[in-house]
Amino acid sequence: MSQFHQPTKPISYGRQTITDADIAAVVEVLQSDYLTQGPKPQEFEAAFAAYIGSKYASVMSSGAAALHLCALALGVKPGDKVITTPITFTSSANCVRYCGGDVVFSDIDESTYLLDIHKVRRLLEDTPKVERSAYKGVVPVDFAGLPVDMQAWRELADEFGLWILEDACHAPGASFLDKQGVKRRVGDGSLADLAIFSFHPVKHIATAEGGAVTTNNQQYHDAICRLRTHGITRDPAILQENHGGWYYEMHELGYNYRLTDVQAALGIEQVKRAPQGLERRRAIARRYEEAFAGTPVTVRPMPEGFHHAYHLFVVEVEKRLELYNFLRERKIYAQVHYIPVHLQPYYRQFGWKRGDMPVAERYYDHCLSLPMYPALTADEQEYVIRQVLEFVES
Ligand SMILES: *Cc1c(COP(=O)(O)O)cnc(C)c1O
Repeated sequence: MSQFHQPTKPISYGRQTITDADIAAVVEVLQSDYLTQGPKPQEFEAAFAAYIGSKYASVMSSGAAALHLCALALGVKPGDKVITTPITFTSSANCVRYCGGDVVFSDIDESTYLLDIHKVRRLLEDTPKVERSAYKGVVPVDFAGLPVDMQAWRELADEFGLWILEDACHAPGASFLDKQGVKRRVGDGSLADLAIFSFHPVKHIATAEGGAVTTNNQQYHDAICRLRTHGITRDPAILQENHGGWYYEMHELGYNYRLTDVQAALGIEQVKRAPQGLERRRAIARRYEEAFAGTPVTVRPMPEGFHHAYHLFVVEVEKRLELYNFLRERKIYAQVHYIPVHLQPYYRQFGWKRGDMPVAERYYDHCLSLPMYPALTADEQEYVIRQVLEFVES
């Protein structure tokens, strides 16, 4: 493709990479005995846990399902308060509502776009002690692929008796160096209680729809696995009766949130290529950073010691709507991540309004996610850069 001509196909902000090996793996399952409840999900779980570095992984039907089962396993109930960021996909907050809890949004840090830990500390400290016990947990999000400082969050959570559910959908493979200089991989179970991932096609690993929970906590893991499949058990150790080989018992109200063997087979192939995909994302980010240095296109510098996974490449510009439309006319489908969740009509009914999260709202007015995915070619990226610079310099 020429750098000067429009691409024949739109260039989106994110998309999957599918190889012949992926297709062969899916076809093989379609020709096998099990389309679901066969061996593939377990095989995918072992491969995913190995990649992430956690003791346990459970795969399921979506990232949203993973968040729901985590909120259930953590015991969220009406009256509980859970803190999260407004700059995330709605699911990070919705999981609390599924269980009847209250979502408390807290503003982001303007240099990282991540939930601002200092503001959360102030929120907790400013809450009278009797009311503070309603706060049960926090859902930090590794927005765009930049990991939160989970060591600092662990300290805060321990101080205030909170659990941590990390929404790591954007950050498989990301890491940071803790205060002791030890490398901490996102979702490795060493700091957060639970971490969740999504296998939607725009994410690093695609299974069409799909998600996972990682943890080092066996109780949480077991609860999530039961809840994923109707709350049913066949474990002889916990059956109350046993009538024969067919016998099972339902001990709690669960769901059908399973990942199929067809999807898991795709996931197994995709996770093998995840390290290469991550390298490619980082190379694309370096090229954007170099191209936009010294221009009116703002790219936030990465904090020292943090290893970004670049699910998104976010820039901030003065005239965001105009740039969005300009790129769209040139077949570049940039996207906005995210409309602040507290401004969604559903959350406004709880009293949230414009002005509550000034940093997030200002960010929302200027942000744009440029194409970022491993299959983006060098020519395509140069075309994107040229169009963005043509807009801001005109
Ligand atoms: C994609 C995503 C989800 C939801 O994942 P699904 O698999 O689409 O349900 C949740 N949180 C964040 C931050 C996401 O990006």
